[in-house]
Amino acid sequence: MAKTPPTTYTTPKPQGERRGLVIVYTGHGKGKTTAALGLLLRAHGRGLKTRLFQFIKHEGASFGEHRALAALGVPYEGLGDGFSWRSRDLEASRALAVAGWERAKAAILSGAYDLVVLDEVTYPVSWGWLEVDDVIATLRARPPKMHVVLTGRDAHERLLAVADTVTEMHKVKHAFDAGVPAQRGVEH
Ligand code: ATP
Ligand code: MG
Repeated sequence: MAKTPPTTYTTPKPQGERRGLVIVYTGHGKGKTTAALGLLLRAHGRGLKTRLFQFIKHEGASFGEHRALAALGVPYEGLGDGFSWRSRDLEASRALAVAGWERAKAAILSGAYDLVVLDEVTYPVSWGWLEVDDVIATLRARPPKMHVVLTGRDAHERLLAVADTVTEMHKVKHAFDAGVPAQRGVEH
């Protein structure tokens, strides 16, 4: 039997002040990076200054989102060397991640942005390439109205603790498991 639509909404009136948020998209289902890009698009549309850092993507990556961001004039940076876990030179991958983090950190602390995305930042944290204490200290030291969005699987519990909003993408199904290859405009 069909459910009847709700007739009353009893959401309590928010009592707090508007402030910058730390938002985490984690989990093993598809949609983390695209959710972060969706927020970036929304913020950009409201005239907020946005910037995207991607810890795994190669600096030369030109996926659909990179082309769209270029058209919008939103700065983005690939800080990695592609798929680091397949990289032959892990020390070089680590050095890239560390140098990239210093750039992202400088951007966060500069006060020049309203929303910064740290896409796939959970991986260099999990691998011990970035200190979780350093990431958390940077989030705490950011301008109070700045939003920071972090994505990646298996987010560190201390990142979850400092975040205001955490969403876990849970895989119910993925077309990849049925043998469907990655497709332009959907996966990249
Ligand atoms: P998207 O970039 O599509 O928002 P994501 O950021 O949640 O996905 P990642 O964990 O960063 O996903 O994985 C990167 C790529 O792997 C994407 O092309 C995505 O479609 C694909 N992918 C994501 N989740 C799964 C999964 N559970 N099984 C297979 N492939 C996946
Ligand atoms: Mg992703």
